[in-house]
Amino acid sequence: MHKTFVAESNKGMVEYLLGAGYADARVADAMLSMDRKAFVPPQYAEHAYDDYPLPIGYGQTISAPSIVAVMSKELDVRKGMKILEVGAGSGYQAAVLSYLVGETGKVLTIERLSGVAELAKRNLANLGVKNVEVIYGDGTKGWQPEAPFDRVIVTAASPDIPKPLAEQLKEGGKLIIPVGSTYWQDLVLIEKKGGALIRKDFLPVMFVPLIGEHGFKE
Ligand code: SAH
Repeated sequence: MHKTFVAESNKGMVEYLLGAGYADARVADAMLSMDRKAFVPPQYAEHAYDDYPLPIGYGQTISAPSIVAVMSKELDVRKGMKILEVGAGSGYQAAVLSYLVGETGKVLTIERLSGVAELAKRNLANLGVKNVEVIYGDGTKGWQPEAPFDRVIVTAASPDIPKPLAEQLKEGGKLIIPVGSTYWQDLVLIEKKGGALIRKDFLPVMFVPLIGEHGFKE
């Protein structure tokens, strides 16, 4: 990852992500319309377009733009899809996905810290994002009331694939999740085919831990 890349504007950041191959054209469009600055605390505003994670309070972080781009691209999102995200954080990843699913699609994002869930709601409302629902709770259990999902994305480090998330994935659906220890993980892409889970590990990453019933213990 080019964690040191620094850009002056959202447009500059997206051009870099496109040039480096992290984003494809559709993801670039989504990131252009969702200004990252709207999801970064005011005291870090001058770093909003740099390619590294930033603190959002409560010991949590907004992911680096290159990670958001890669995960969005690998998830292969189409208009009208229903997506479940675990780990709302700042709401940035959910905002990018909401653009990709369009008005006919929907993103549900679960967050285990109530203060962070409120932050995500505020950030999304400020940008006028309407097709994201922020849910406060333990996302390792998924969200049965709205299952199954076309896509599932986990933006916190998990020791394994939480069973409920695999179960709540549609046939032909895709799930992306960092799997490993609390220090480093592999980004894993799962595809459900004929009921089986086909796994591809493709990138070393560092995420804050997924804490819950089917994640790391508190
Ligand atoms: N997607 C976010 C970044 C996520 S940081 C963004 O775009 O900004 C990871 C988040 O996952 C943290 O806010 C953390 O509180 C949350 N989290 C950890 N375990 C969780 C769980 N079991 N369910 C829901 N959220 C969880």
